[in-house]
Amino acid sequence: MTTPIAVVLAAAITAAPPPRPPNILIISLDTVRADVVPGFGGDAALSPTLTAWVRESTRFADALTVAPLTVPAHASLLTGRYPAQHGLRDHRAHPEVTVPDSLVAKAKARGFATAAFISAAPLNGLGKKLGFDHVDLPGVVEPRAALETTDHALAWLAAQPDRTPLLAWVHYFDAHYPYDPPQVTWRRCPMAARDAAIDLVRHGGVLDCQELRPKTVPQAWWRPCLWDLYESEVAAIDRQLARLRPAMGRHGPYIWVIIGDHGDCIAEEGMHARHATSLAECALRIPLAIGSTLRPPVAAARRDPVSTIDVAATVAGLAGLAPTGTDGVDLFAGEAPASRTRYVEGAGINMPGCQEPVAGAWRGDTKVVFYPTTGEWSAWRRQRGVLREITRFGDLGVEGERLWLDVVRRPPPPTGVLGLPGGAVSAEEQRTQEALHALGYAQ
Ligand SMILES: [Zn+2]
Repeated sequence: MTTPIAVVLAAAITAAPPPRPPNILIISLDTVRADVVPGFGGDAALSPTLTAWVRESTRFADALTVAPLTVPAHASLLTGRYPAQHGLRDHRAHPEVTVPDSLVAKAKARGFATAAFISAAPLNGLGKKLGFDHVDLPGVVEPRAALETTDHALAWLAAQPDRTPLLAWVHYFDAHYPYDPPQVTWRRCPMAARDAAIDLVRHGGVLDCQELRPKTVPQAWWRPCLWDLYESEVAAIDRQLARLRPAMGRHGPYIWVIIGDHGDCIAEEGMHARHATSLAECALRIPLAIGSTLRPPVAAARRDPVSTIDVAATVAGLAGLAPTGTDGVDLFAGEAPASRTRYVEGAGINMPGCQEPVAGAWRGDTKVVFYPTTGEWSAWRRQRGVLREITRFGDLGVEGERLWLDVVRRPPPPTGVLGLPGGAVSAEEQRTQEALHALGYAQ
């Protein structure tokens, strides 16, 4: 049976056009731990734009990254998959790996124009692999400052027609070591230690996995001085967010995500400015704030256990995109259960003291860490707010042992992956390796 033409015409006339989806802005703050961001413990006076933006967001106070490594963390952010599922588990965007459907693919299927503004070479190749229409990379080995990355993002935004929905990913690298902000707000570091702290950070040499030794700065002042420098890097990003935010707003309603890809351990847990292979809390705990100009501001923080892998499904839900196949959940479909297991991992790196891959998981108050190459393990349990190490296997308890078994049985992360690879190396790969070396990663 055919449908009369008049009925088809009537339906066409009365049917409203599908609503234009809101724009999407994903801001990833490289190496920015939660407690330096306002709303998560950071100082509001130093970062006024973040303060205002986070205040209008839903804040997730218990958010963990999937890996303290830039490439796996961002791949998980944009695919909603754990590193073992998307296949990018170290600092390279391996040409042979085809990542699963990403948020970018879903947005493009709905007609979004998509762009990635990347500030540092560890992400070379990832933007292209994820299918962004426009990938804006630094042209040199040196990472790009927030100011320059923002210039490029604003130029792209200004050139976009209003009728096309936009997905923009803006990545800021300023807070990664070496902490060398354009302007330092000294608040903790004594006057007598400042010059030495700056000199050490600028000329401290290649890092290793043990520590950057504060030879010229008294130990007691090292952490306060590092923290002042680190916090000032976040303030430098904040000044650029003050430009980015109104520019995005001029394009109409939008969804935003503000997230750290991983944290940094700053003179704690035996590390002085490191993340990489550590599954210490300082390397894993990240800020996560999600909001939309279409939703009323949400002042309260959520405290359910969430992860980087939840962002893709949550943004897809807010924007009305097709659901992504994901290991994560839509955070606005309900709170994540307290019993949820969140996996974390770190690839081995060809650096002294950190060749070992490491796998771990958090569930409730318990964290289990496993070193697949040696079979060693460690575990912690939070008691009265303090994370205490469990030294006897028998003290894990049934649930702790169940978590340990779970971690041990997962595919182990790779080992020793950041050295210059043997055999033929593409020009882009060579550039990435040189940049990683400049950042103190590869030997
Ligand atoms: Zn990173």
